[in-house]
Amino acid sequence: MIKATTIDEVKKNVREWKKQGLTIGLVPTMGYLHEGHASLIKRARGECDKVIVSDFVNPIQFGPKEDLATYPRDFEADCKLCEGLGTDLIFHPEPSEMYLDGFHSYVGVDTLSTELCGKSRPIHFNGVCTVVSKLFNITEADKAYFGQKDAQQLAIVKRMVRDLNFNIEIVGCPIIREESGLAKSSRNTYLTEEERKKALVLHKALTVGEEMVRSGEKDANAVKKAVTDIIESEPLARVDYVEIVDWNELQKVDKIDGPILTAVAVYFGDKVRLIDNFIVEEAVK
Ligand code: AMP
Repeated sequence: MIKATTIDEVKKNVREWKKQGLTIGLVPTMGYLHEGHASLIKRARGECDKVIVSDFVNPIQFGPKEDLATYPRDFEADCKLCEGLGTDLIFHPEPSEMYLDGFHSYVGVDTLSTELCGKSRPIHFNGVCTVVSKLFNITEADKAYFGQKDAQQLAIVKRMVRDLNFNIEIVGCPIIREESGLAKSSRNTYLTEEERKKALVLHKALTVGEEMVRSGEKDANAVKKAVTDIIESEPLARVDYVEIVDWNELQKVDKIDGPILTAVAVYFGDKVRLIDNFIVEEAVK
C-alpha cells in the first residue's frame, strides 16, 4: 500500500493507473477508521481496480467551537485496517498541503445545506463540498463511496456532482451498527460507558419511527413526536433536532407521501453530538 502525503504523489500514481486503463474508487474519510469505513472500502475493493482512501481531518468543515483539535486520530491503526482490506493508496496530507496560503475558493450547495445539521453547523457542508471536490480532482476517481450514516452529506455530494457535472459516480452505502444498534462513529470514543448505553435510545426511537412509516403512518408530525418522546425519555440526551424531510430537497414535510429521510442529532453531555437516521425510499400505499 502506498502512503502518500502530497498531492503530487497521488497524481503521479493516478496518471500511471489511468494509462493502464484501470478504474479508481475513492473512499473519503477523516480517519480513526472503524467497520463503517471498512464497509465502504470493501465495496470499493469489489467494484474498482484501484482503491484510494483519503485520511484527512478537514479543518474547514469544523466551526470555531467544534472538536477539530480533539477529533480522534490514529494513522498507524488506519494504515493497518486499509492495508488489510487491500487498499492501494492511503492519502494523508497535512492541512497546509490541501490549503495553500491564499486559499480562497469554495464549493457549496445551497438549500440542502441549510436544513438539518446545516442549522447548527452553518459552514460545515461548504467545507465538505470543497474538500470532496478537491479529492475528486486529485484522484480522478470513477466512483466515490459515502455512508448513509451522514445522509445529508450523501444527498449534498450527489447533488453537487449532478449540478456541476463531475465525472464521478457517487455510491451510497448502508449504516453499519454495533450489535447494540448504536451507529458506528469515530465520535463514539467521546462517550463514557454510561453515555454509550444511554445512546442506544437513538436507534430505539428511530426503529419505532421507521415501523410507523412502514406500516403506513402519513402524519410526519406524529412520527416526529413519537421519536422525540422516546429520545427525551432519556435524561442524558438533549435533542438538537428530530426532522422528517423529503429525500430529495431535504425540506420538511407534514405529510409522508414520497421518499423521506428521518434524521436526528442529539447531544450527550456538553460536547458529544451524535447523528442517526432512517430513509424510506418508497411511499407506503
Ligand atoms: P468520517 O470519517 O466520519 O468523515 O466518515 C467517512 C465516511 O464513512 C462517510 O461517508 C461516512 O458516512 C462513512 N461512515 C461513517 N460511519 C459509518 C457507519 N457507521 N456506517 C456506514 N458508513 C459510515
